[in-house]
Amino acid sequence: MIPKSHPRYESLMTREKIVGGVEKGITSIHGLIAQGRGEAFDYLIGEKTGKGALHAEKVAAALLLLAKRPVISVNGNVAALVPEEIIKLSDAVNAPLEVNLFHRTEERVNRIIQHLRSLGAKKIYTKSNALIPGLDHERAKVDSEGIFSADIVLVPLEDGDRCRALVEMRKTVIAIDLNPLSRTAQDAHVTIVDNIMRAIPNISEFAEELKRSKEESLEKLVDAFNNKENLALAIDEIIAHLQTSQR
Ligand code: ATP
Ligand code: MG
Repeated sequence: MIPKSHPRYESLMTREKIVGGVEKGITSIHGLIAQGRGEAFDYLIGEKTGKGALHAEKVAAALLLLAKRPVISVNGNVAALVPEEIIKLSDAVNAPLEVNLFHRTEERVNRIIQHLRSLGAKKIYTKSNALIPGLDHERAKVDSEGIFSADIVLVPLEDGDRCRALVEMRKTVIAIDLNPLSRTAQDAHVTIVDNIMRAIPNISEFAEELKRSKEESLEKLVDAFNNKENLALAIDEIIAHLQTSQR
């Protein structure tokens, strides 16, 4: 048991969740490395949602509400860290889920689907009957009615190659990635430089708030967003945080 008073309580609990995911067979062992890399960047941003991230979370909510066929991609880390939260977001913006794994095995895909269903997920695309062009066979598998034909895809923690392949399919890609320098962060249309533990609930909250807005005002919000500028802001925020942390 980790005591709540531990200064790194949240970070340690997150690790427990990822380890639990590996033990349950829903998270790949490679997921541990991805989490470690994420944690390092979370430290650099001060383990809080910055201004730029919050803005990107609002834009992401607007995009998901405007979408005709939005899909939320779920991998083993997402399923271990934020399963309930991702289901809540899926309901809030009417975006079905699809399990999409980098280290894909049918067994792990099915375990994650069962895990999500046991927590109340309603709509999950479960077929693997289409391929994303430009990727090798296993990495390319998607559902023809899901990610393959989506207009907007939310990919929390996506690999750089697959993010680029989705962009090349002319989809609007929203990524959540703590590393503002990763290929995923650089290639996505909207990059949220924040921990998924904070980002997903924030997007849901914005979605509830923006639900009543007119389409034109959502479009304005989306059109005014510039991902390159927002990534530069994330890096500025890291620098500012490092400068104030100097003792
Ligand atoms: P890329 O393939 O985009 O160039 P990469 O190979 O460094 O980047 P991957 O291992 O493919 O990255 O994916 C993991 C990414 O997810 C990392 O950039 C990491 O910062 C990020 N990440 C890991 N855990 C979290 C988390 N909890 N919240 C947000 N981002 C995270
Ligand atoms: Mg990668």
